[in-house]
Amino acid sequence: EPMQSYEIRRRFLEFFGERGHRFYPSSSLIPYNDPTVLLTTAGMQQFITFFTGEDKPPSPRATSAQKCFRTQDIEEVGDRHHLTFFEMMGNFSFGDYFKKEAVDYAWEFLTAELGLAPERLWITIFEGDEDAPEDLEAKRFWMDVGVPEEKIFGLPKSENWWGPPGDSGPCGPCSEIYYDYGEEYGLGDPSQDPKYGPGGDEGDPRFLEIWNLVFNQYEQRKDGTLVPLAKTGVDTGMGLERTTAVVQGVRYVYDTDLYAPAFEKIKEFAGVSVGDSDATDRALRIVADHTRGMAFLIADGVRPGNQRREYVLRRMIRRATLQAYSRLGLGPEQLAAVAETVVDYMGDFYGELREAREDIRRIVTDEAARFVEIFESGKELLESELSRLDGGNFPGDVAFTLHDTYGFPVEVTREVLAERGVSLDEAGYEAAMDAQRSRAREAARGYDRAVAAFGGQEIHSRFVGYEREQIETRIVALED
Ligand code: ATP
Ligand code: MG
Ligand code: MG
Ligand code: MG
Repeated sequence: EPMQSYEIRRRFLEFFGERGHRFYPSSSLIPYNDPTVLLTTAGMQQFITFFTGEDKPPSPRATSAQKCFRTQDIEEVGDRHHLTFFEMMGNFSFGDYFKKEAVDYAWEFLTAELGLAPERLWITIFEGDEDAPEDLEAKRFWMDVGVPEEKIFGLPKSENWWGPPGDSGPCGPCSEIYYDYGEEYGLGDPSQDPKYGPGGDEGDPRFLEIWNLVFNQYEQRKDGTLVPLAKTGVDTGMGLERTTAVVQGVRYVYDTDLYAPAFEKIKEFAGVSVGDSDATDRALRIVADHTRGMAFLIADGVRPGNQRREYVLRRMIRRATLQAYSRLGLGPEQLAAVAETVVDYMGDFYGELREAREDIRRIVTDEAARFVEIFESGKELLESELSRLDGGNFPGDVAFTLHDTYGFPVEVTREVLAERGVSLDEAGYEAAMDAQRSRAREAARGYDRAVAAFGGQEIHSRFVGYEREQIETRIVALED
């Protein structure tokens, strides 16, 4: 039997514990140290002030399994490797070890501890630009552990550079580890064209990014120049679900042990399993991802609503309900029961899930039931419009109202229409969408002014990396 996810998590923490790293429990999905950040998106977030030097760490080395939530990846959910909720395993050095040890540790953990074949691992480094040189040190250390040079690819700043958090502060190159599923999955020859090598979201599908090592190497001055840091640092993030997929030999994170209890429950209720059809597979994956997300958000105290985090939770429940109800035939209580499998499966490590069991059941049931009602009245509106239609296209503004007011996604409208041989007035729909987008932009500007007014501006400029994500999140939320 292949190693299970919880075993990989335990081994990671023990591996770094044995090497002098102090264990930190995951911080909450609600960041405690930055009011401008929507949700925790990386392991290093709880350690930011140790990196900037504002606080002195109690120990120069740390390790954690961090609950992360990336709303910016929500549209990707259903692909083989992007989740909204995931766990990021990390090891951290605050002015202690640097590149060599970070590379050696990662390599030893993956090959000796998890038993991955060394020839399956490919590497990316920072390729260099006018501000900073190619990261030949990292390259050298990877070659020292045995990675052949032709498996090391340089990537630009957009991919392999971190920070600084604001217009000045610590920053530096990144180096990533990719798993190679084999040439048969590739689109071309990486030795001929680097676009077929590992890298970025656009990378070749034969490769999967599993671990990112960030080297805090420079201090960026306000004028943009880089000065070598006296106290360098390391911040790494290894995705637990992706690493588990690799260890268990599956292409999709959903085919790991982590989602098996949810799929079993759905099968019990609806008789649907992974592999039945593409449409139900997508629905199953969205439900599996989103039920984890909602369980963890509720356990950290988030409640459904129309603002910020509250809206993220509402959106998760609605999106999951849409799939569960309209594609899999699950009712609100059944969706809540699927979310409860997360409590059973992950509650040993994340005890907050067990404490929140009743809340999870109640909130998911109620919110899903409310959405089913909205959805059903949307369907009525759609039907009555259809019966009034006398030839021609289905009006775009009605499709927009269905989407905007009834949470009835336009894809579903299109599908229903296609079944009746009617097409949608796409231009009219786009026009209604555009009008709403400009209203949303106005609202976002108002939000920025509000943040500035309560003194958030300083925090904003201190930590630009996540602010960008937050703006995305905000715009996504307003557009939905
Ligand atoms: P990708 O390029 O695949 O979107 P990333 O470069 O955005 O990943 P990092 O910010 O480097 O990811 O995060 C560190 C690690 O966390 C990644 O190497 C990956 O294993 C994991 N990870 C990041 N985003 C996700 C996600 N949406 N779902 C699952 N795991 C993720
Ligand atoms: Mg990446
Ligand atoms: Mg990403
Ligand atoms: Mg990365």
